[in-house]
Amino acid sequence: MMCSRLRPSLPHFLSLRLMGTAAPRMVSSKQTEVLSAALAFEDPSAFRVKGWGELLRALGVFRLCSFPVLVNNCGTLMSIARTLLGKKGFSLLLRPTVYAQFVAGENESEISQSMQKMSLLGLRPMLAVPIEEDLGESTGEKRYDDNMEAMLECVRMSHSNAWSKDPMMQLKITALLSPELCVKLTTLIAQQPCDLNLLVRAMDGEPVSFPGLDEKEVAHFLCGLQRLNKIAEASVNKVRVLVDAEYTYMNPALSLVTMAMMKKFNKDGVWIWNTYQCYLKESRSLLLEALHLSKKEEFCLGVKLVRGAYMDKERKLAEKEGRPDPIHQSWEDTNDSYNGSLDVMLEYISQKPERYRIIVATHNEESVRKAAVRMEELGVDKDGGSVCFGQLLGMCDHVSLTLAKEGYAIYKSVPYGSVDDTLPYLVRRAQENRTVLQGIRKERDLLRQELRRRLRQSLKRGS
Ligand SMILES: Cc1cc2nc3c(=O)[nH]c(=O)nc-3n(C[C@H](O)[C@H](O)[C@H](O)COP(=O)(O)OP(=O)(O)OC[C@H]3O[C@@H](n4cnc5c(N)ncnc54)[C@H](O)[C@@H]3O)c2cc1C
Repeated sequence: MMCSRLRPSLPHFLSLRLMGTAAPRMVSSKQTEVLSAALAFEDPSAFRVKGWGELLRALGVFRLCSFPVLVNNCGTLMSIARTLLGKKGFSLLLRPTVYAQFVAGENESEISQSMQKMSLLGLRPMLAVPIEEDLGESTGEKRYDDNMEAMLECVRMSHSNAWSKDPMMQLKITALLSPELCVKLTTLIAQQPCDLNLLVRAMDGEPVSFPGLDEKEVAHFLCGLQRLNKIAEASVNKVRVLVDAEYTYMNPALSLVTMAMMKKFNKDGVWIWNTYQCYLKESRSLLLEALHLSKKEEFCLGVKLVRGAYMDKERKLAEKEGRPDPIHQSWEDTNDSYNGSLDVMLEYISQKPERYRIIVATHNEESVRKAAVRMEELGVDKDGGSVCFGQLLGMCDHVSLTLAKEGYAIYKSVPYGSVDDTLPYLVRRAQENRTVLQGIRKERDLLRQELRRRLRQSLKRGS
């Protein structure tokens, strides 16, 4: 079918490695120590800005997330509770607890309140419309158009409310293009690479045809590309759009579409970003391919670097289909992969900060410290725009607040919507609290320390 799934040759890999050997600034071990001490993330005072209710809620929610039986079955438990309590009762149960912990609100005024509070703490919101679909859940064209309107509304809110400088938002392609088509495209690209220009022409409204797809699929693909084009046009020069990575059986299609958007909209700035999941064994080569493609096709590259959120499902599926596991064997291997890719990106950024950007999207303290030290060594500006950090709303606030205090650009991924709309997201958050290994345990300890400090203070005042 088409041409840009590039497998870089060995000389190309070597040139990338050599590029990484550009002389770093000498940073003394004393400077590294000072930086590491500032980013020790052990200071419970980060939580002084929170009210009693918020502290207790966070502790309660994290405690619940520590019971494997609850977490492993939380999808089923939530749907049973919803049936027993009804929509209203279920909402009453969830709204002050799990929902309030991880979701900003339902309407603009609720979201606005959360965002203003966040801005005061030096945190930048990155709004995320939590709409996504998996295989077998596909809905009609009308629903995808409605999703597009919701995304356009997200662009407007992110831009017009001036909650932070340099606003960002997240976008899930499966909210605009059917997962079935993404899977089919993934299979087709594996057989024959695809020309990005074809997709760009389709975004421009040309009625191009895509070999391998039937008439109905081509029509849906063209509509999907037009939807993405509208969102990108509305956001360019205003809001940076970070496209999420999802499952391996559709990611190549999502990346292809994202690269086409980058080719069209990232000529002079990084407006469209792609996500790289470092738990995947192939993540490093995917990142190197993207770097190569961005040079060849002359677009700027924005990278959201994550470990990956779909580990259990990916592994189960690979086992069921008798394929090798696409995920690294251990957490340590995933860490090496994450830190290695981070290093590659920071080296590129230190040479061309106007063409490459990264959001270090992790709750892992070690990766955050590594990024900060490497930035110092390479002379990358803390708040220059080319490197920023990201965590999810309601998770690891001790990391986010410390980074903000130290002058780094830090975004919180902020989902919004009704209880029903955010339910799949909430289930994933609960499950993720099990895999985010040290971060949550540490946060729970710090929350307890802050509660004890307040109780002691109240007792002193009382005596
Ligand atoms: C701003 C933001 C945007 C995000 N966007 C996306 C996205 O688009 N797509 C996506 O998939 N995820 C996304 N995530 C979620 C992310 O992928 C991680 O699931 C989450 O952040 C936990 O990883 P960590 O680096 O924070 O934590 P850590 O505690 O350091 O690591 C936990 C992660 O390590 C990996 N891991 C754990 N155990 C093992 C093991 N035994 N073997 C191999 N690997 C293991 C898993 O990925 C697990 O989630 C996003 C996160 C943030 C903060």
